[in-house]
Amino acid sequence: MAKAMKSKTSKAKPAKAAGAKPKSLKPQALKSALPKSKGAKSNGQKSNGQKSHGQGTKASKPKAKTSERYVYSFGPGGTDGDASMKNLLGGKGANLAEMTRIGLPVPAGFTIGTNVCTYYYDHRRSYPPELRKLVDSAMAKIEKEMGAKFGSTTNPLLVSCRSGARDSMPGMMDTVLNIGLNDHTVVALAKQAGNERFAWDSYRRFVQMYGDVVLDMKPKNKTDHDPFEELLHAKKHKAGVKFDHELSAEDLKELVAEFKQAIKQGTGKDFPTDPMEQVWGAIGAVFGSWMNDRAVVYRRTYGIPHEWGTAVNVQAMVFGNLGDDCATGVALTRNVAIGTPGLNGDYLINAQGEDVVAGIRTPKRIEETLELDMPASFKQLQKIGRSLEKHYKEVQDLEFTVQKGRVWMLQTRNAKRTGFAAVRIAVDLANEGLITKEEALQARRIPADDLNQLLQPIYDVESKKAALNEGRLLAKGINAGPGAASGQICFHASDAEAQWLKNSQVELILVRRETSPEDLRGMKIAKGILTAFGGASSHAALVSRQMGKACIVGCGDLEIDYKAGTVTVGDKTLREGDRISIDGFTGEVFAGEVQERPSEILQVLIYKTLAPDKAETYGRYAQLMSWVDRHRRLKVRTNADEPKQALEAIAFGAEGIGLCRTEHMFFGHIDEFRTMILAETVEGREAALAKLLPFQRGDFDGLFRAMKGKPVTIRLLDPPLHEFLPHQKSEQAELAGKIGISAETIARRVEELHEFNPMLGHRGCRLGIVYPEITRMQARAIFEAACDVKRDKIDVFPEVMIPLVGFAEEFKDQEKIVRETAEKVFAEKGVKVEYLVGTMIEVPRATVCAEQIAQRAEFFSFGTNDLTQTTLGMSRDDYAGYINYYREHDIVPADPFQTIDRDGVGGLMKLGVQGGRTARPNLKVGICGEHGGDPASVIFCHQIGLDYVSCSPFRVPIARLAAAQAAVAEKAGMKR
Ligand code: PEP
Ligand code: MG
Repeated sequence: MAKAMKSKTSKAKPAKAAGAKPKSLKPQALKSALPKSKGAKSNGQKSNGQKSHGQGTKASKPKAKTSERYVYSFGPGGTDGDASMKNLLGGKGANLAEMTRIGLPVPAGFTIGTNVCTYYYDHRRSYPPELRKLVDSAMAKIEKEMGAKFGSTTNPLLVSCRSGARDSMPGMMDTVLNIGLNDHTVVALAKQAGNERFAWDSYRRFVQMYGDVVLDMKPKNKTDHDPFEELLHAKKHKAGVKFDHELSAEDLKELVAEFKQAIKQGTGKDFPTDPMEQVWGAIGAVFGSWMNDRAVVYRRTYGIPHEWGTAVNVQAMVFGNLGDDCATGVALTRNVAIGTPGLNGDYLINAQGEDVVAGIRTPKRIEETLELDMPASFKQLQKIGRSLEKHYKEVQDLEFTVQKGRVWMLQTRNAKRTGFAAVRIAVDLANEGLITKEEALQARRIPADDLNQLLQPIYDVESKKAALNEGRLLAKGINAGPGAASGQICFHASDAEAQWLKNSQVELILVRRETSPEDLRGMKIAKGILTAFGGASSHAALVSRQMGKACIVGCGDLEIDYKAGTVTVGDKTLREGDRISIDGFTGEVFAGEVQERPSEILQVLIYKTLAPDKAETYGRYAQLMSWVDRHRRLKVRTNADEPKQALEAIAFGAEGIGLCRTEHMFFGHIDEFRTMILAETVEGREAALAKLLPFQRGDFDGLFRAMKGKPVTIRLLDPPLHEFLPHQKSEQAELAGKIGISAETIARRVEELHEFNPMLGHRGCRLGIVYPEITRMQARAIFEAACDVKRDKIDVFPEVMIPLVGFAEEFKDQEKIVRETAEKVFAEKGVKVEYLVGTMIEVPRATVCAEQIAQRAEFFSFGTNDLTQTTLGMSRDDYAGYINYYREHDIVPADPFQTIDRDGVGGLMKLGVQGGRTARPNLKVGICGEHGGDPASVIFCHQIGLDYVSCSPFRVPIARLAAAQAAVAEKAGMKR
């Protein structure tokens, strides 16, 4: 079982769904073409809880009813939109309007709203009838603002046409530049610019881009040929030059003619010469690109609702390729990899925008040379960067063009950043007074999960790049335990242990089809864990997270042959002892070594190898976490079974233990435990349990001392007994020799205990009910340890938790044993300790009957691993085979074993809280399933009024931050 133990039944190999293509989406209505995304609102409305731009801009003015308006102009002469209208104008359109409004130099243009995209897909890819007129008059406005005329043969205006969704989807949709060029306007442009080569280069680029994007001539796969690139290549060859910019005006003229010919051949149609026809072609291509495979997959990955649609921005062209006093580039107001302040980025002299990203020429660094190349423009850009950061209160990602020494802004948006940069930027912005501490905590500034990057060892970026380039990427699985780990392949936990005994410095990656509790010791020794099966709450995943180890599960491409000692992926075979590197952040598995970098936070908090005042990153982390603790309402506990884990969790800020799985402790004393299971009489069982008592007591003693009075929730034995027994004949014979019971008896008992559905079998409180002596021993161990610790003047607060309760009677039965044992121990020891007896809520019946259960239960803790399994009827161990497919086809919004299924499992949780607090208004309610460390689930737990979440030690800071983010968002919502 994925919980403590692992069911050995029905191990289906996961389907190779990870690389599956999204289903093709036919041109049909958006609403019917796509599955409904949760929380999606119609265009023009703000999305659920999301401030539409939320960047602290001036309060938005009341707008005309958005559904009636399709086109919004921007330019010095009048701007219709602003930053608050991101849902309707898309991020790019809203920010172009905003930049214009605050007086920055933006070429005039207009935005066609996302509502047109919705209309387009709802009406078989057609436009609202009035759109043509609206576009005509918006074009006229641009002409007026720019003092040029679209299609003019003396003073031509050129425009660009770009996509722009609410959330940026970099590079996923289409763009067309230099629209308006034809054989006549190009001559006028050449004359006007005094530069024939420039005009023909722009024309050449336009025909190529139009052919690729609008006329769909872009190669679809790597074997398709690209007629434009081939012609361009041939032309350079013929001219004897290496780079595009070395081609002459004459070469380019020839190329334009050849490109047009290729279009005629490829599409059967002439290249359109009418500028308005060109614009409409480009508008259609941009709306069409909302549904291209790339964009659909991107939205699915980042949870962007398909219903949002894209806006289209048509804007006057400015040129960075008119000479050496021209440039184009992308600037960031701070470094988004590590967060250091200062303008930085890429630029190219005498180039157009796409050259910077296309990689044809290596861009120069703004922070290194722009000041020397263009001192005035650099100064102006710096000033603009500062004012935009101040205006948006966020690090900005800017696109700009310098035309003849004049800076033009083409885009600004909140910059994407790493977790490292996110923390630094948020803390710095707060310390600089640009934002409040509360704002620094917002989820959009630091996605709580990104905090992981500060905690885990990570791969050195360059070393990983090299591994990719060398073709060493073997496979991809579910990234279950973040972190980076390189080591030698080891297939068996016992071998890992043996190797470690010889050399405690050995670096091993435990590679298994799946893991079980018997692998625990080997897992502890291994640097990382890689399994072919299992999902996010499989045994391997939860144990490795609890241990803070890198872990990849469900890596279905791995063919593991234990006998041969090999793991094969395609035609590559690695042997036991070969080095392998796993990236638990991304799920990537590499052959060979990838260099690691240790986390500073761990050095300070856990290993104590670095002084806090010498650790800059730690300093910022500590500052952030102090703000976090001031704002959160939810308490954060940890799932820990050992003092070491408990102490680590406390260093990370845990306020108690929310789940101690006692079965893990038995694995240190497996023979004694097996003797207990194999005993045929109560007396025999009690005798075996008596031998286990001191071990359990010792374990609890250690935990209580480590926690110093913080609550410690101890769950009574949960997994089915069958899973503790050896299944191989040879193992049974070995055990028989050790404990003096015949191998036949062991085999018979294994047979007797076998269940078809062990996860739904004789486990949880059902064990303690049928074998009360087990509960009695565990309760005695808990209370004896608690009394001993209290006698040593250390505070202690045990919470005894009964697992898998569905009936109030089950709880009553076990509670009675626990309380009777407590009273006996207190009398024997002459010491009394305060304690609670509560239950896990992990089967649907318990949520429905929560009121009855809470008549006696003093606390609830949602076991959402089992609650998800039992509510969805999905095995937590065997869902990897189809969950990827489900995700890719939008059947489920997220992996339900990672993020709480709000509508189903969440609905039952609400019911449970309601029922429980009806019986006991102050009932303490928490969660200890794996979801307790998932930010989205933590936010949900806050919303439904839980008291605490409990998660593995290394997730504690993430849960703390998510809890604060939930509180901050709630407060902001109340203010609104
Ligand atoms: C759960 O079911 O959510 C839980 C915490 O218990 P386990 O994972 O041990 O079954
Ligand atoms: Mg459970």
